[in-house]
Amino acid sequence: MSAATVEAPTLTPSAPGDHDRFSHFARADQIADALVFGLAIEALCGKKWVPTADPSRFPVCPACQELYDAMDPGTEVP
Ligand SMILES: [Zn+2]
Repeated sequence: MSAATVEAPTLTPSAPGDHDRFSHFARADQIADALVFGLAIEALCGKKWVPTADPSRFPVCPACQELYDAMDPGTEVP
């Protein structure tokens, strides 16, 4: 099992006043739990937020993208 299991970018925070509107990469298992239970998770870049089910509305977080690209090349890239 890869230590860098990362999947579909998830959504940005929707908190009022939060201007950091990007889709972040996070661990797939955390995303799954977050979507089911409404939990906050931590993105690759360190951002903590509660993801929603529609990541396509926002551009991918540059910091997350960079970290993602630096990962295991065997990881599937969207
Ligand atoms: Zn990010």
